[in-house]
This record gives sequence, structure tokens and C-alpha cells, in this order.
Amino acid sequence: MKYYSTNKQVPEVSYEEAIFRGLPDDNGLYMPTTIPTLPASFFEEIEDMKLHDIAYEVASRFIGDEIPERDLRKLVSDTLNFDLPIVEVEQNVYSLELYHGPTCAFKDVGARFLARCLSYFSAQSDKKSTILVATSGDTGAAVGSGFLGVKNINVIILYPKGKISKIQEQQLTTLGDNIQALEVRGAFDDCQKMVKDAFLNLELKAKYNLTSANSINMARLIPQSFYYFWAYAMLKDLGDLVVSVPSGNFGNLTAGLLAQKMGLPIKQFIASTNANDVVPTYLKTGVFTPKPSTATISNAMDVGNPSNFYRMKEVFGSSWEDMKVGVIGYAYDDAQTAETVRQVYQATEYLLDPHGAVGYLGLKEYMKEHPKSVGVFLETAHPAKFGDVVEPIIKQPIEMPERLAEYAKRTKVATEVDTTQEELIKVLEKM
Ligand SMILES: *Cc1c(COP(=O)(O)O)cnc(C)c1O
Repeated sequence: MKYYSTNKQVPEVSYEEAIFRGLPDDNGLYMPTTIPTLPASFFEEIEDMKLHDIAYEVASRFIGDEIPERDLRKLVSDTLNFDLPIVEVEQNVYSLELYHGPTCAFKDVGARFLARCLSYFSAQSDKKSTILVATSGDTGAAVGSGFLGVKNINVIILYPKGKISKIQEQQLTTLGDNIQALEVRGAFDDCQKMVKDAFLNLELKAKYNLTSANSINMARLIPQSFYYFWAYAMLKDLGDLVVSVPSGNFGNLTAGLLAQKMGLPIKQFIASTNANDVVPTYLKTGVFTPKPSTATISNAMDVGNPSNFYRMKEVFGSSWEDMKVGVIGYAYDDAQTAETVRQVYQATEYLLDPHGAVGYLGLKEYMKEHPKSVGVFLETAHPAKFGDVVEPIIKQPIEMPERLAEYAKRTKVATEVDTTQEELIKVLEKM
């Protein structure tokens, strides 16, 4: 499979090159030259398949012969070494729990797959590289955990000072070894811009073999499509499937659209956001206006200029008319989110995290008009990750999974920096 840049100013590259480059030199985003499709027989038998086999079939269509079958099967099963349960919250409303991985957020899926792909190719060529990753909270933890101890790869995590939860900060500042944390005096968008600017500095990029682990990297997106197939396999007999995706940078939603393009029968995608609503606004008006991000209680979705929007556009052939049919957008404020966490817990004893609650809200709003659908929302993080928000809402302590509690005991190590490229260069030089 070859990958092209959405800006079309650079040549097509292999999968290996696309994931090591992260971002093409023309500041576009990589996309597969054709979106592969799966045969009808695959969808007829999918409910009898194991998660790892479904994931392998999907991955192999995007990677082709660059990773041999045996290695790719192992890579997929190492990535998904945890369950992805689907839990019925109310009649016809299902939570797809993506938080059973090591850092308790769905980003483990993408980060673990990316780490294993890079490590596979690095071992073939003994190539050294540096991963730069901007995080609004969960990415940094997942990438740090996914790459910890991986040979030939150093990781630098940039996170906005004071804008992520305590436990998230612990998760990305206490790993040590080949993982370094930068505490940036700015917002997530500043962190993301620092990373983007570093990639656009071609001299710097070449000198340190810079690679991106943000959801702009194709190796994050591909595995995020696996679980849409999985949800379909589990629920296909129940009716038309609609999926609500709580979204920030829109990697997860884009992965779902790719799955749909591959032939997966999902009837409707719903883009649910917090107050950072540039995509729902675009769907309504046809005008895309990136804004500075607003801080909310679903902080991993505080993104004012979502990178994957340009991939979504590509999927819909740049047609706003088509996109607004394929994706329905809703936005919610913090009061609605908090009230939903409280109400759902009270009515069902199911505890949503603030991100999942936004997804639940969008799903319910859509299902009011389409009551016969079978609805799934992605539950993207464990509620204990956002204990400081959720505990006051339900007025009860949340039990912390052991793997999260471990992080809280360790000592934070981070370098505080301003939002300039010079600061980042200083860190790279010291490595
Ligand atoms: C990153 C994140 C999101 C948003 O995912 P995108 O792919 O950036 O849209 C939602 N929920 C949680 C918990 C996250 O960490």
C-alpha cells in the first residue's frame, strides 16, 4: 500500500516511510492511495471471528507485504492484549469500553500499535529516531507507556502546564528511561504547533530523525478502526448500527470513517464534542474556523484546530454536502456533561467518564429521532482517570484500578519550557 499527502506536493511513500515521517514535508496528512475493501464474506462471518483475527485482516489491507503475516499477527495480538467489552447501558444503548489497556484510555490501542510497527522496522535497519508527541492528556500517557524501553527510540512528550489531570500528569512524567516530559507554558494547541513546526523545520527533522506519534500518524489511525469492526461483530444481528464518537482531534472518528469505507455497515456516525465545537459548526454551516481551545471537564477533547479534519474532508471528496450527511455533529457544555454522568449513574449505576458522557449525549440526541437504531458510544477513558471531576458529581469515591494507582506513587520529572522552537531545540540537543 502506498500513502499520499493530502496537500499532494510530495511523492507517494511506503507504509514504513509514512509512519516514520509522521507528517509529509508539504504539511499535509498521509492517506492510503486507495481505501482497501473487505469482501462480503468477511462481514457474513465476522461474528464468529476472534478480535485478533479481525484486527489482522484489517491491518494487513493497509500494510500489504511490508510486514509478513506472522509478524503482523504477533504485532496485532501484542497491541490488543486487553479486552474491548461492549456493555449494555440501557436498552439499545451500548458502551464500547476502550479503556482496559495499561493507561486506561483508548489511546493505548493506537500507541501500542505504532510503537510495535516502528520497533519492527527499526530492528530491520538499526535506525534511531525521536518521537515528538503533543498531548491534551491521554496521548502522552499511552505513547510513553507504549514506547517505554523500546530500543533505538527516544520519546519527548509535550503537555500543557496545569491543563491535564493530576493522574494524567503522573502517567507521563514518571516513566523515565527513554521517555522525557516537557511541561509547556501554554495550551494544547501550542504544544501541537511546536511539534508541527519542528516537523516543518526539515533540517531539524532530518538531524534527529523526528517522528510523530500524534493521531496524525497513520499507524495510530489504522488500529483505531479495529474496534468498529469488533462492535459490528458483536451487535450486527440487533439492527442498524449508529456510533457516537466523543471527539477532539478526530482521529477516532476518522478511523471509523475508514472502516465504513472498507465496507463496514455503520449506518450513521455522530461527532460529539464539548465546547470545542468547530466540527459540529462546520457540519451546520459549511465554514471551518479553527479557534483557540477552551478548557472543559472532558479535557482530552479540548482541541480548537483538529488535525484529522483534513482527512475527513478527503474521505468525503471535500464535499460539505456529503460530510454533513455522513457525520452528524452535536456539542455539549460542561453542565450537560456533568448532569449526564450523574443521571446515568443514578438511573443505571453505569459510571461514565466525562468524555464518554459527551458521546452518550450525542447518541441519545440522535436516537430521539431514530429510535429503532442500535446505538454505540465509545467510552474512551476509565472514569477514575478523571476522579477530580467525577467524584464530586456522584458524591462518591471511585475505585482506582491498580495500574493507575501505581502511577500516583511515583515522582514527577518534567522540564518546564516556553512555547518556542528554541526551547524544544535545546532539549533535543541535550538528549
Ligand atoms: C484523545 C481522547 C479523545 C478524543 O479522541 P480524538 O481521536 O482526538 O478525537 C476522547 N476521549 C479521550 C478520553 C481521549 O483521551
